[in-house]
Amino acid sequence: MKENTHPKYEQTTITCACGEVIHTGSTRKDIKVEICSKCHPFYTGVQRFVDAGGRVDKFKKKYGM
Ligand SMILES: [Zn+2]
Repeated sequence: MKENTHPKYEQTTITCACGEVIHTGSTRKDIKVEICSKCHPFYTGVQRFVDAGGRVDKFKKKYGM
């Protein structure tokens, strides 16, 4: 019996800090990551957009616009 010779490659989930769950195949189980293709600014640009919006709001309040 040499069960460890070939690790099982099976369905698992990668859970991202943003809540995104990616189903994939891996020898590891329940992988956790802090960033994924859905929330990475490089892929979405959303984070930069949100930051810019916040700055505009502060600017408007500061100058009473
Ligand atoms: Zn993510």
